[in-house]
Amino acid sequence: MEMDCIRTQASVSALHDGEHVTDENAEAARDHLTECEQCRTFEDDLEALQALPVPAAPPELIGRVMVAIASLAAERAEEQKTATLSEQQPAGPTDVEPSEPRFAWLNGKVRWGAYGALATAAVAVVVVVALSGRVPAPQTAGVSETAATGAPDLTFSGKAPAGAAPAVPAPTPAPARAPDYLLFRDHVYSPGSLLADSTVATPSIGTVTTAFNRASAPEQISALRSPLTDGSIVVPGPDGARLYEPVVRMFTSVRYQLAAGNVIQRFGEWPELPVRFQAPTSPDGSPTFVIAGVDALGVQTYTAKGVPQSQGFAVAPGTPGTDPAASNPNWTWWEPIQVP
Ligand SMILES: [Zn+2]
Repeated sequence: MEMDCIRTQASVSALHDGEHVTDENAEAARDHLTECEQCRTFEDDLEALQALPVPAAPPELIGRVMVAIASLAAERAEEQKTATLSEQQPAGPTDVEPSEPRFAWLNGKVRWGAYGALATAAVAVVVVVALSGRVPAPQTAGVSETAATGAPDLTFSGKAPAGAAPAVPAPTPAPARAPDYLLFRDHVYSPGSLLADSTVATPSIGTVTTAFNRASAPEQISALRSPLTDGSIVVPGPDGARLYEPVVRMFTSVRYQLAAGNVIQRFGEWPELPVRFQAPTSPDGSPTFVIAGVDALGVQTYTAKGVPQSQGFAVAPGTPGTDPAASNPNWTWWEPIQVP
């Protein structure tokens, strides 16, 4: 597949998941869609998927379905790669062991090509879920005509609540733990789409050290180059390869990424100020920071003495729920994003 197709389909799927796509990527995708039938078909498939009525399934079932879909897609792609079309019946969703997803390491050309097969697989799995007598009865009984926005996300690249601990959106007022942050080159990222498979052909761009959501010791893991140019990275985790998106805020139309001075070793740990800054002792930021303008969300920013605001700025603790650093108990520091 052409690089333009890879980027376009990544952007389209991110948009369908309601995730942030840069204006630049969105426009490139729109342009490409006008001239590429393959990508238009991809988008149509996605839309058809979202239009399907979905069963009101319990969250743990959705997680297992997502793992099944990802595994199926990886298998389909592997089959296409070797040009031996499937003679195996794909396993039903309840037959797949959620803790051991079979993510194949596929080369870069195949991995995004898997998405077409993935859409097909997703339709198959949704139908299986709807029809299978083995599926636990949903509380509302039968297939519900859930509004699209309220429907469980069964598209392939959704943030799958895979495994034993489904990711539940944090409540807006003062959560006890931080989001699922990880750190790469001292900058903070949060989980985005689960990719259908991983990418042995994708170059490593460094390492992250994290235990993800586990209590075990953190491990050093290769961070891989993202197919998007939005500053995201790809990190193979317990549930497969996932996009991790930079935690950003806008100031004067520039994206600034959250930087951290501490070592975030696992999900739920809050970033702290870079060590070169002494924590302010007063709510007005003094003696470290000086009150400055507001960002694109109207959040108050603070500059550090001797640092032009274009090079970085601080934000006070406890920003509201809509903020990219919502409820952080610490002062945060933001720097112009550098695409890895
Ligand atoms: Zn294309």
